[in-house]
Amino acid sequence: MTPDTIHSVRDRLNIRSGRLFIDGKWLEWDGPRFDQINPTLNEVIASFPEAGKRGVDLAVAAARKAFDAGPWPTMPAHDRKRILQRIIERVYAAEEELAQLQTLDNGIPYTFSRNSRASGKAAAETLDHFAGWADKLTGETYPQFSSASNMHYMSFREPVGVVAAILPWNVPLSMFAKKVGPALASGCTVVVKPSENTNLALTRLAEIFGESDLPAGVFNFVTGAGETGEALATHAGIDKVSFTGSTAVGERIVAASGFNMKRLSLELGGKSAGIIFPDARSVQASAKGLMALSSTFLSGQVCTTPSRAIVHQSIFDEFVHYAGEQVKSVRFGDPFDPATTSAPLINKRQMQRVLGYVASGVEEGATLVFGGDAATDLPGNWVNPALFINVNGGMTVVREEIFGPVLTATPFETEEEAIRIANESEYGLSGTVFTTDVTRAFRVAQKIRSGTIGINGFASVANAPMGGVKRSGIGREGGFPGIEAFTELKTVNFNLDV
Ligand code: NAD
Repeated sequence: MTPDTIHSVRDRLNIRSGRLFIDGKWLEWDGPRFDQINPTLNEVIASFPEAGKRGVDLAVAAARKAFDAGPWPTMPAHDRKRILQRIIERVYAAEEELAQLQTLDNGIPYTFSRNSRASGKAAAETLDHFAGWADKLTGETYPQFSSASNMHYMSFREPVGVVAAILPWNVPLSMFAKKVGPALASGCTVVVKPSENTNLALTRLAEIFGESDLPAGVFNFVTGAGETGEALATHAGIDKVSFTGSTAVGERIVAASGFNMKRLSLELGGKSAGIIFPDARSVQASAKGLMALSSTFLSGQVCTTPSRAIVHQSIFDEFVHYAGEQVKSVRFGDPFDPATTSAPLINKRQMQRVLGYVASGVEEGATLVFGGDAATDLPGNWVNPALFINVNGGMTVVREEIFGPVLTATPFETEEEAIRIANESEYGLSGTVFTTDVTRAFRVAQKIRSGTIGINGFASVANAPMGGVKRSGIGREGGFPGIEAFTELKTVNFNLDV
């Protein structure tokens, strides 16, 4: 492990970290600050302003003024799109730097930060997709309904207003793009708050937005922890909250939104199933693939991770064998070393939480096949990837989102049983079915209660909707539903008798 790499990348990229971007200017903040801890070294890497209620009030007032007075919401769509396209070109140009900063933020191995769907390039593509919608947001005309009057109707699609975009730490670039892209393209103004764990890459991205032709107040960026998030989510000047994070916080936002009817989009937790049938193209590849999603990349800290393997009993032993083979290739260490496969857990608290879940699994009678202990020879928060078998739906490790490198595996006999086990969850975000029987694949995909489902693979993209049912959230991000959620329909009535 070389702290040198991390320090030198930080110093070279030199993010200015004492400021909030409000009303078209970077404001030196005279209020309290908080430390961001790097999860690879467990050292302070930078400190950022805690915007708190005062910073949020200023940012919302700026966004409110920019929305109510314009010109952004009513600007001709093509002009709005051109401004966004120029920003997007700069995001593409900064992709390498953004990927490095994201690796400093959350320890995601640089190879993934640069090349996966979590990358700066993927964020630019998502922004690009949504900028393309700016001039395609149309309403409808309706045929005359009744001869009693000569009323005619048409609808217009208008921006929803001032948006609070509250982000998690695991894939900050991607989350920023999925919210800020459609919000700005539809004509909304926005106040963005990154997670307190990951501010570096998004501060750089905010600098790019800040140096653009966006009118003052259209884009605002505040840093801070839960209290700042709460001040933003409950602010009377906010029309819509677009939140990605834990179900616990999402449910607080739902409760708080009740008194003023804020619009909500909530992308929350998951406990998705990976179902392997005996006719999967390769049991070995499916087993290794499922185990890799829990043990490499962000080490299971991804909402869509299929953290419950549901495996036909005829191939169950083979599955356990290959899952064990896969973890032999896992490498912890310097995230800028191409040999490193897995991110550390985001902080010590999350590491203790994961270790607590592992202990609960053992106490409740599950069998720990391997892993589940801390990698104590490193300063970062790594837990060796764990596999539990002999589990049931009542156990904590099967019910709760662990958000770490812990996979449970349950055998099944019939297709109906596999579907029943998969649906035995309070969550409904995603899942994957491995089979070469195409009719079975569709049958099972239709019966799983989730917002998204993969057949022989899973990846979310900018132009297809993604989101959850049950406690996994409300709404969809991606494609038209992802921008529709930032609009309101206004129906105009024309009386042609006057
Ligand atoms: P978190 O809920 O702890 O924090 C998310 C954001 O909410 C942070 O910016 C935080 O500061 C803010 N916040 C905290 N308390 C708040 C409050 N009372 N009001 C308003 N904002 C508040 O989540 P996290 O630990 O950053 O992220 C991990 C979670 O995110 C996991 O549950 C994961 O499944 C979920 N997630 C979901 C998706 C998805 O698309 N469904 C994607 C990524 C992550």
